[in-house]
Amino acid sequence: MTHRIGQGYDLHRLQPTGSLLLAGVTVSTDMSPIAYSDGDVVLHALTDAILGALSLGDIGDHFPNSDPRWHNAPSEIFVTHAWSLATSAGYRLNNLDILILAERPKLQPFKPAMKSNLARLLHADESQINLKAGTNESCDSIGRGEAIAAHATLLLAR
Ligand code: MG
Repeated sequence: MTHRIGQGYDLHRLQPTGSLLLAGVTVSTDMSPIAYSDGDVVLHALTDAILGALSLGDIGDHFPNSDPRWHNAPSEIFVTHAWSLATSAGYRLNNLDILILAERPKLQPFKPAMKSNLARLLHADESQINLKAGTNESCDSIGRGEAIAAHATLLLAR
């Protein structure tokens, strides 16, 4: 097979202290996700998209939250692990599309740093990565600022 598609989704509840990481970049220092790891919804959705494209299950299969090694773990290690499975199977990134849903903060200023970090993690060019950010128009838990979510869709090629 020359191409494989994967999609991932993640949501975490937010609390009004601490710092919020998205794609490994600190985007806020007055809120944080309630999570077992660092709660980076972009990197969790991306990990699931990679594993999905490879038909290798999901992030919970590889990094169970019952394992103390993953307590407060930096989510980069999840992506790095999933990506090593992809590259060892001969795949490279064709393209990645990320959608972040958050009522705040405004993410536009952080997009270049997020994109650069994602390109580094996936050994890819920034032109292969797209980042979109939206709100939920004050509707539901995301719209009320109680939660943050991300969707990831990617295509692998070899
Ligand atoms: Mg998560």
